Amino acid sequence: MAGITKQQEWQMLHNACMECTACPLHQTRTNVVFGVGERKSPIMIIGEGPGEQEDLQGEPFVGPAGQLLDDMLKLIGLDRSMLYIANIVKCRPPRNRDPLTEEQDACSHWLAEQIRIMDPDIILCLGRVAAMRMIKPDFKITKEHGKWFLRDNRRIMAIYHPSALLRDERKRPETFADLREFRRVLRISYPEMYGGGCWVE
Ligand code: SF4
Repeated sequence: MAGITKQQEWQMLHNACMECTACPLHQTRTNVVFGVGERKSPIMIIGEGPGEQEDLQGEPFVGPAGQLLDDMLKLIGLDRSMLYIANIVKCRPPRNRDPLTEEQDACSHWLAEQIRIMDPDIILCLGRVAAMRMIKPDFKITKEHGKWFLRDNRRIMAIYHPSALLRDERKRPETFADLREFRRVLRISYPEMYGGGCWVE
């Protein structure tokens, strides 16, 4: 948009999203969960949708899965201030069920706009739902987690959702290997992240 800064564009998007009633999930939400973090980062993390705590607090990944996500980020030398976290749908599906295809369709333009404005180089999908939306509809999380894909000139990897790791600890070693691969690429692409420098202004 001519004459509008990215910051203004982002704020307008945020404000419009807060008012969204485009799918039935608006009827049961407490808060719209737009996303959180550093939008100037080259890294975006995408989950599937808010859970109970996220709905109550209006922020993604703040419950037990969020605590585990923080631990996972710490393992690879990252924290929330160094990236942006968003979801496929911005309002909580009842009883934490998967978001329906029609809900994802109704909501996808918000995330698409976030990606367009933020323009991340690297996207990490958490779980099957995000991977099927961002990478390919027939994505198989059990076989394809930890692999790199190229979409719109962005590198995308999916790993198990932290909630899945809480339910089944046997998946953790595989996820640790995936995170090491993620860190390997980050180290090559953004050595300043690991050398004390930072891309954040
Ligand atoms: S889930 Fe997305 S499309 Fe549905 S009401 Fe919330 S913001 Fe709008």
